[in-house]
Amino acid sequence: MSSENKEESLDFIRSRIKDDQAKGKNNGRVHTRFPPEPNGYLHLGHAKSICLNFGVANEFNGLCNLRLDDTNPVAERIEYANAIKKDVKWLGFNWDNRLYHASDYFDQLFELASQLIRSGKAFVCDLAFEEMKKLRGTLVTPGQNSPFRERSVEENLNLFTQMKNGEFLDGAKTLRAKIDMSSPNMNMRDPVIYRIIHKEHPKTGDKWKIYPSYDFAHGQSDSIEEITHSLCTLEFEHHRPLYDWFCENLNIHHPQQIEFARLNLTYVVMSKRKMLRLVEEGHVNGWDDPRMPTVQGMRRRGFSPESIHDFCDRVGLAKRENIIEAELLEHCLRQDLNKRAPRRLGVLNPLKLTIENYPTNQNEEIDAVNNPEDESAGTRKVPFSGEIYIDRNDFMEEPPKKYFRLAPGKEVRLKYAYYVTCKDFIKDDNGEVIEVICNYDPESKGGNTEDGRRVKGTIQWVDAKTAVPTKVRLYDRLFSVPNPEVTNEGEDFIKNINPDSLKTLDTCLTESNLSQIETEVPFQLERIGYFCKDRDSETEEQLILNRTVALRDSWGKLNKK
Ligand code: ATP
Ligand code: MG
Repeated sequence: MSSENKEESLDFIRSRIKDDQAKGKNNGRVHTRFPPEPNGYLHLGHAKSICLNFGVANEFNGLCNLRLDDTNPVAERIEYANAIKKDVKWLGFNWDNRLYHASDYFDQLFELASQLIRSGKAFVCDLAFEEMKKLRGTLVTPGQNSPFRERSVEENLNLFTQMKNGEFLDGAKTLRAKIDMSSPNMNMRDPVIYRIIHKEHPKTGDKWKIYPSYDFAHGQSDSIEEITHSLCTLEFEHHRPLYDWFCENLNIHHPQQIEFARLNLTYVVMSKRKMLRLVEEGHVNGWDDPRMPTVQGMRRRGFSPESIHDFCDRVGLAKRENIIEAELLEHCLRQDLNKRAPRRLGVLNPLKLTIENYPTNQNEEIDAVNNPEDESAGTRKVPFSGEIYIDRNDFMEEPPKKYFRLAPGKEVRLKYAYYVTCKDFIKDDNGEVIEVICNYDPESKGGNTEDGRRVKGTIQWVDAKTAVPTKVRLYDRLFSVPNPEVTNEGEDFIKNINPDSLKTLDTCLTESNLSQIETEVPFQLERIGYFCKDRDSETEEQLILNRTVALRDSWGKLNKK
């Protein structure tokens, strides 16, 4: 996109930031943050938020912080925090020295809460969770004041300190903002800002017995870091009045919260909680299972950061909930792979092919093009001899009309190599074809002849002596319906899991050049799809490939040549 076009098509967030900058708001400064809670692995939705926050900072000459929003020690783990850092880096973004933790601010947050108490805007409440809920009212009826609402400042300060010192049990007391129990916005009905949790924190150990609520910690952390634009997802729209209330009543730096629609994608679930269930119940093999829309799963599947950026760009920003089709993601992936993935040969269901008239003991090397989309990728040598394997699907004893692959009496082109004509075939006792016998035309090396005779079919092959035994994991969509979360009453999304989302083929063969291939760097197996080496190859001491994505239309394309 030219910079001019980009200018014209600024989304609502970028237009707003541009206006603010032009008006000199925050002295023209732009400072964003990405604030994940370390209670799970990052997914594609987070990637979108990362691309937005870091992207905006880059475009407006600003800064973006990475902040781990670690205010709930019950669900959070160091393992998750480490994975988050790794994933943001892998996506290509850099927080320089601006890695922060909400827990870094626990002292300041405690002080801000005390400030609210001192100005009569917060109180310690003894109501248990259930009682508090009853008095909260509903969307159509106002709530009622807590009987503890009118405690004196002094009493509140004392109780809050006692809460901090661990003198009460979990849930015995809370600190609540004193706002308005009849507000039409439920978030404004004296929300809880501190709760008692006797649980060690990964960063602060046993120092704290009270932890700030999300709404309090989040906005005040934004303010402490002097964030200018706090970009978040739509579910926080109704929290914005509270966000603003805290900043105004504490009289501190006031970032602008702006909401955008979450990214949803068909055929997956995009919530850490649901993904955790998939992992814990063993429906997938961990957070980095290549079927998961986690950043780690996608990486293991063979996605590049660029293809994810491209996808996020194309999806753009919306103000309303929507769901993006998985096909768009696959399209971005294929476009990226088509440009950069080297081509290799392999067969998933090997069938032996013997070339009868090929000189015994002759071996040769065939020149094969590495990437027809990229001349600079050059060529490679592929071993060839009189014994090769083709794919079982490329031979038929009794072919239908318009079958251009191998059949008795038919001639095909072995990709990059020679023309071969089928003379005979051998069956086993079960009547299954186990070997095809051919003659080759020594004049057709490279796949052309001087007489220019037309051979319609081109098939791939591997050399029997040098081929690498390979295990292939064929992935399909994790769910069998586009919107797995929509279910009948009493059922949940688990029932929509696609039972065929993983098929493993154990007896595949691939060309010898693949024994050197790097893990997670995709290549194309010609006519089959895009694949990459899985990290399990090391532990299982065998080449294991993950299918990144199928080719859209392998037959149509190659047989037209
Ligand atoms: P989940 O619902 O999957 O647990 P979350 O919103 O609770 O996600 P956080 O760790 O709180 O996860 O999110 C960090 C940031 O990423 C937040 O600013 C959040 O708004 C954003 N984010 C989370 N999910 C999406 C999504 N699907 N699309 C866009 N942004 C998202
Ligand atoms: Mg959350």
